[in-house]
Amino acid sequence: MRSMPEIVHPLRRSVFRGVAGHCPACGKGALFWKYLKVNGRCASCDTDLARYPADDGPAYLTILLIGHLVVAPLLFFPIVWRSNPAYSLPIILAPLAALTLAVLPRVKGGWVGMMYALGVKDTDARLHTADAAD
Ligand SMILES: [Zn+2]
Repeated sequence: MRSMPEIVHPLRRSVFRGVAGHCPACGKGALFWKYLKVNGRCASCDTDLARYPADDGPAYLTILLIGHLVVAPLLFFPIVWRSNPAYSLPIILAPLAALTLAVLPRVKGGWVGMMYALGVKDTDARLHTADAAD
């Protein structure tokens, strides 16, 4: 059984480069070629970016961040509870959806940067704890 991966690249630098939408290795090449599609290889340094898995992690983290930092504090305002839902729901949900869609690629970039810093690859999926218990 292999041990947990160690940090093989600077964690903070890699995550921040990913959050900015840049290659976590060089910080110059674009990380995404579409909204959430990670480039196969960095155009600047030729790092294989497709080998760093993101799966559902960025979506869960985005929901966690938006839920705790925006939705929960929003519920403390009485106007949310007292207003007619026919008017308040579209007013609240439209910006919330836009914010979530704006945050998601940054979280995914940071996630890929973290995977890069930790040296986690697609092949490490075999180390999943649920599989190891069998
Ligand atoms: Zn690069």
